[in-house]
Amino acid sequence: MNSRRTTAAALLLAAIMLVSAACGDAGSKTQADSAAGTSSPPASSNTGSTDAGADATKSKPSDTPAASTNGQDQADATPGGLKQTAQSGTKSGAKQNASSSGKTGDVQVVANPADIAVLVNKTYKLPENYKPQDLVDPNVPFTFKEKLEKRKMRKEAAAALEKLFEAAKKDNLPLAGVSAYRSHETQKTVYNRYVQKDGEAAANKYSAKPGHSEHETGLAIDVAGSSGKCAAQDCFGATKEAKWLAEHAADYGFIIRYPEGKESITGYQYEPWHLRYVGVDTAKAIVKQGVTLEEYVKNAVPVAKPKS
Ligand SMILES: [Zn+2]
Repeated sequence: MNSRRTTAAALLLAAIMLVSAACGDAGSKTQADSAAGTSSPPASSNTGSTDAGADATKSKPSDTPAASTNGQDQADATPGGLKQTAQSGTKSGAKQNASSSGKTGDVQVVANPADIAVLVNKTYKLPENYKPQDLVDPNVPFTFKEKLEKRKMRKEAAAALEKLFEAAKKDNLPLAGVSAYRSHETQKTVYNRYVQKDGEAAANKYSAKPGHSEHETGLAIDVAGSSGKCAAQDCFGATKEAKWLAEHAADYGFIIRYPEGKESITGYQYEPWHLRYVGVDTAKAIVKQGVTLEEYVKNAVPVAKPKS
């Protein structure tokens, strides 16, 4: 076990050095992402990077924990919620406990993939063939010029994003999109590449498995200031843009999906750049309660609570 641990640690470290973690999304390694089909600009790790949706972040030690929490997170995350029934029959339970042990334990397929408040994380995955039906190109600047898949978002989210960006611009903090939608195929490509490179265990620490990335819902987007500086990197958290977003995103229906200090619940380290659209009412409630989407969904299920 020790040696195993050591190896794992080494792999992890390597992964972290490469880039690190990510939004559950995808992977975080910048390159890959880009490679993945989405070509991205010079994926150089620094700016603009990635799509990774990654949110590739620079490694913070927290990554690890977060990542490793897998199970735990999930457990917490149990959404029982909003009709998040798992295909497997588990009707949303309030306690769909996803095994607290392991990474892949008890993965559930969400029954409401098209729901605006759908919960997708290390425990809850999208159905294999799911593809959002109303993807459009939001009319906002991105850190790249090409017309790529990663510009897309679901219609409602795209409209909200336009308003959000407009408001930020008005406050003299123009924003740019870095990476939004990622297809299941793209995610698969990215993930498989990591597995091949670092092995599955290591890959799971920094890359979301296909079906588990929020970017596949068309409701998430990584953003940066219009200069692209600190895109999908930890340093973004210290920017005025990040502060502005933390304060105003909910007014437009977005939440900072992976808040600081909530790694054990979300499964991911702090990602100030990863916005998730959930609708204005939900976003405001989440902010007001100071909770994560996982916690919110779990608490907001008065209806299907199997708890006797
Ligand atoms: Zn992201």
